[in-house]
Amino acid sequence: MSADIEARLKDLEHACRLAGARVTHQRREVLRAVVESSRHPDAQSVLRIVRERMPTISFDTVYRTLSFLELHDLIDRVQGTGGRTRFDGNQLAHHHFICTMCGRISDFTSEAVDRMSLPEAALKLGIAASRQLQVYGVCRACERQEGHTYENQEQ
Ligand SMILES: [Zn+2]
Ligand SMILES: [Zn+2]
Repeated sequence: MSADIEARLKDLEHACRLAGARVTHQRREVLRAVVESSRHPDAQSVLRIVRERMPTISFDTVYRTLSFLELHDLIDRVQGTGGRTRFDGNQLAHHHFICTMCGRISDFTSEAVDRMSLPEAALKLGIAASRQLQVYGVCRACERQEGHTYENQEQ
């Protein structure tokens, strides 16, 4: 077990204690599935991963557990392509490259983006606490497959 997952399971124990909830086997396994995947899995993919260890777990339980983990700030919800909800176990500040062909969401970090001054229009709307850049495009794997010329689209 990696040091990261150990630390995250400790966070889960802490969050459950605060919420007066039990640290169930389901909660541990669903958190592990999201944290150990770098692919920002959707609920169906989490179900597939968790079923390897817990063959009888239902989609409903996985979905409710994901909501529980999100509510307690242990994972984040990300909007993927095609309106699919995806889950993100990376809690360090990072940005996303989203492939519009295969739907893959990859993490990257950028000090330049983190330090960039925000537009006046955004600052007028409220007090900024954090920021996240979503870059849409065609990932390298799809580019190779399709022989695509790839363009960066920022949003
Ligand atoms: Zn792709
Ligand atoms: Zn991410």
